[in-house]
Amino acid sequence: MKDQFQVVIIGGGPAGYVAAIRCAQLGLKTACIDRWVDAKGKPALGGTCLNVGCIPSKALLESSERFDELRQGLVDRGIKVTGVELDLERMLAHKDKVVRELTQGIEQLLKANKVTWIPGTGQLQANRRIAVSEEGKEKPRVLSADHVILAPGSSAVELGNVPLQDDIVVDSTGALEFREVPRRLGIIGAGVIGLELGSVWRRLGAESVTLLEAQDSFLPFVDSQVAREALRLYTQQGLDVQLDSRVTDCELKDGVVNITYKNGKHDHQVQFDKLIVAVGRRPNSRGLAADEATLLLDEWGFIHVDEQCRTNLPGVYAIGDAVRGPMLAHKGSEEGMMVAELIAGHAATMNYGLIPSVIYTLPEVAWVGETEQQLKAAAIDYTTGVFPFAASGRARAMNDTSGFIKVLADATSDRILGVHMIGPHCSELIAEAVTAMHLGASSEDVALTVFAHPTLSEAFHEAALAAQGRAIHIAQRPRKN
Ligand code: FAD
Ligand code: NAD
Repeated sequence: MKDQFQVVIIGGGPAGYVAAIRCAQLGLKTACIDRWVDAKGKPALGGTCLNVGCIPSKALLESSERFDELRQGLVDRGIKVTGVELDLERMLAHKDKVVRELTQGIEQLLKANKVTWIPGTGQLQANRRIAVSEEGKEKPRVLSADHVILAPGSSAVELGNVPLQDDIVVDSTGALEFREVPRRLGIIGAGVIGLELGSVWRRLGAESVTLLEAQDSFLPFVDSQVAREALRLYTQQGLDVQLDSRVTDCELKDGVVNITYKNGKHDHQVQFDKLIVAVGRRPNSRGLAADEATLLLDEWGFIHVDEQCRTNLPGVYAIGDAVRGPMLAHKGSEEGMMVAELIAGHAATMNYGLIPSVIYTLPEVAWVGETEQQLKAAAIDYTTGVFPFAASGRARAMNDTSGFIKVLADATSDRILGVHMIGPHCSELIAEAVTAMHLGASSEDVALTVFAHPTLSEAFHEAALAAQGRAIHIAQRPRKN
């Protein structure tokens, strides 16, 4: 009975480990298999997010922001700082310490909840049996389960004509490990990773950061007014975004990357000291299930699931980056909790329309719900309220006035359909919008709510008031009622 479980989970990232904890909390005998090993070859939980994703990138974003602020951001406020120096080794060591502590924390949490953690590679066989290949063991261990949750996550997409090379042409993982600040940094892909990691190295002193983006529009999934403002501010910061640019050749010579790319119809050559390839991620579904298991994948390799993450196989669920929807840690975690409830026999659903997104640049970009372009395409009548941080007392006191908050509400019912922000601390402010929308709030509900003064969140209040045609701290033409 040792290897018989009520639930076996393959993958210990934010989707898998959260599912494991919730299953155990619900009284289910649970095992979690994960194959991640850290730089020292030691098994580590937490998947991409904790080891090489959300957490280390945010540690470097935070540290580089402090460095940049001390170097050039405080003079206007009467604070003179001299002799600011970068100790990159120590900054990287801090990042590694944060990662180590958090991954060990997950290990403790699994132990406390009596989840069996099995380091190794799992493969789904027929009839919910799982073969686990463990380090140093010749024969796979075979587990059987009443329910299986597949949470194998994703890996960086590689480009055939730009192979990763040494520590010079790297993916996002390599870009968290540069031992010196690159003088000329190139990035293929002006998506979320490109912008966040480009910001890190620019703040730490890269002389040029060039992002070569294949599409001819910038952040097309972001509200276009926000995307325009973001591009303007990033450009001011020295991120050179080249749209409609496709790399046709990449050659590494004498430690320098020589890139040829097509911009529109014209060929260009450019040299970089480091190049990051950040062109998206693909699901880790290859080899995850034996052929005899007959697990259905879509044409991109995503595991086929319904709205409640059921695969085509009875008792087998799949969650996180390996299934449809945004590749975000909190999306995977919520799916993990939903599936645990379903397995325990409870009713559970997830609102995929209300998953917040954040780009952790400076200023931060955050949004939830429909963009203005989506509402136009769907021919939905809406009202708009925009409030700039330049009119916020708190933002002015912080000397951080770029950006705005925008509320989109249904023209008939006034229900909030989308909230889009760019500005200081938007990664935190977006939670208010998500909560309001989760509770079905109208822009009037938010307008009638009392917000503390002086806070950045007043900008959300004012944007809701603006949607009602009655913002106080900007001049607005009154709406006829
Ligand atoms: P993963 O975190 O990828 O975990 C899957 C785990 O399963 C891994 O440990 C893997 O080794 C293991 N595994 C796979 N196959 C097997 C197998 N057959 N047997 C055993 N184990 C297996 N998201 C955000 O929401 N916010 C952010 O700020 C953010 N920043 C990011 C920054 C970077 C640089 C990157 C790369 C990603 C970032 N993401 C961010 C995305 C986020 O990391 C992912 O959405 C999230 O990790 C997905 O969780 P998951 O559990 O589905 O998969
Ligand atoms: P992405 O999809 O955000 O961006 C990739 C970009 O590369 C796109 O703009 C795409 O058009 C471009 N591209 C694709 N092929 C190209 C080519 N051949 N040449 C030039 N450009 C090309 O993907 P990403 O930035 O790699 O991030 C991967 C995933 O990780 C995303 O889904 C994201 O949600 C997640 N992530 C989230 C956060 C966050 O929540 N803050 C941070 C990092 C990563």
